[in-house]
Amino acid sequence: MTCPFCGGLDNKVIDSRLSREKTAIRRRRSCEGCGRRFTTYERVEELAPIVVKKDGRREHFNRRKLLAGLERACEKRAIAAQTIDSLADELERGLIERGEKEVSSRRIGDMVMDRLRSLDPVAYVRFASVYRSFTDLDEFVEEIRGMGITRSGGSGR
Ligand SMILES: [Zn+2]
Repeated sequence: MTCPFCGGLDNKVIDSRLSREKTAIRRRRSCEGCGRRFTTYERVEELAPIVVKKDGRREHFNRRKLLAGLERACEKRAIAAQTIDSLADELERGLIERGEKEVSSRRIGDMVMDRLRSLDPVAYVRFASVYRSFTDLDEFVEEIRGMGITRSGGSGR
């Protein structure tokens, strides 16, 4: 990322913000050479971190999977679908704005637990008790399905 004023290569990120549509991230940068500020835009696909699973396998971050995990944890609780959706957004945003190339699945799990703890104690315990032993959203969704929590009784979501 070169400075448009002096061509210097060293700069500091002052602020990172994800666009509303989540297609681009806007970064305010300060040039270490001339001190001037400029803005860069980066496409989100290039920035969403790669998730490193417990067994070392890597996969692209999958918002749908995150959302599925949250929905399972919050099933039958008085939590609006919209709230769960915003939570997934917020977590995704947090990951992208961090700007790291990779993130461990355990770290994502910790972030989810942090948020659920303040949102709903039951959802938190559900998530924490199962997730801790798996550290993988796929396995979490499978396991909790096995616990019968997903039986909807026809109400749907
Ligand atoms: Zn400069």
